[in-house]
Amino acid sequence: MVHEVKGVVARKRGAPVEVATVLVPEPGPGEALVRVQACGVCHTDLHYREGGINDDFPFLLGHEAAGLVEAVGPDVSSVAAGDFVVLNWRAVCGQCRACRRGRPWYCFATHNASQKMTLADGTVLSPALGIGAFAEKTLVAAGQCTPVDPAARPEAAGLLGCGVMAGLGAAMWTGQVAPGDSVAVFGCGGVGCAAVAGAVLAGATTVIGVDLDPRKLELAASFGATAVVDASREDPVEAVRRLTSGVGADVCVEAVGNPKVFEQAFYARDLAGTVVQVGVPTPEMRLELPMIDFFGRGGRLKPSWYGDCLPSRDFPMLIDHYLHGRLDLDRFVSETIALEEVEEAFGRMERGEVLRSVVVFDR
Ligand SMILES: [Zn+2]
Ligand SMILES: [Zn+2]
Repeated sequence: MVHEVKGVVARKRGAPVEVATVLVPEPGPGEALVRVQACGVCHTDLHYREGGINDDFPFLLGHEAAGLVEAVGPDVSSVAAGDFVVLNWRAVCGQCRACRRGRPWYCFATHNASQKMTLADGTVLSPALGIGAFAEKTLVAAGQCTPVDPAARPEAAGLLGCGVMAGLGAAMWTGQVAPGDSVAVFGCGGVGCAAVAGAVLAGATTVIGVDLDPRKLELAASFGATAVVDASREDPVEAVRRLTSGVGADVCVEAVGNPKVFEQAFYARDLAGTVVQVGVPTPEMRLELPMIDFFGRGGRLKPSWYGDCLPSRDFPMLIDHYLHGRLDLDRFVSETIALEEVEEAFGRMERGEVLRSVVVFDR
């Protein structure tokens, strides 16, 4: 049986997204059919619409989601119908060279569903990040479903599926923030605020939020930043030094994706400290630094893909922190919206008015 559902589709580059009928097949071997309960609006969805990821239009957007497994393929044992799951785009293969070397968070061959979802006329859809969850139901690889405690609100839990996990992991895993560390986060949107929360969760004692927008600095403080720096009013490198006894932060997280901001993060860290790059740059951006400064300052410069997370390890753990009141995932949910409102939500996201707009089904 094919499931006929509504989904948000980007048909061509730059065109507004629209709600269309999507045909979702029954799960085959290795697959799971998920009834989506909530799905956050992420910059990556907009990048797909703009043609910034690839040209495989039409796309079925949405990828930060939680829902209930409705059915699984014949050979699937990792999840079962009725499980409450957060969807992930890192279903590790266990066999590629990264997995075989014990670094599955770099997996180069992550699993997606093998069957295709289509439009009513049979046109094959490309699901965003192999998920496509701005739809009442979606088909994914079973490994893309991570069961978590069903006591969590779907609209909060689903956010772990992408941006919030990227920020938390940038601090916790890529930056390896340790108890007593000082951390500076450059850019306090959704990902940056999550990095602030991750630094707090990992035991950092000094957490500095840096941004140009006073509203975002307020948000950073609400997630536990111990100090904030308005980079439109003072030199952020000087300010971070001043707030860290003159030496710079142990870990600086760049959450914007901008060469100027990267440079600030680079010079604001302590000797032998770590710079984590989690903001996504555009192809034309260039880094230019005196090579002697790279060598002379030692430490680490590390890109962070999806926060170096392992969904099966991290999602249940972070949901437990959330349910125990130590990680405020609800605060990332600025508003809940209907499927038809995704296009307008892109605008609010671009203008920096929201951390996350979250599509909620069955409202
Ligand atoms: Zn692998
Ligand atoms: Zn995302």
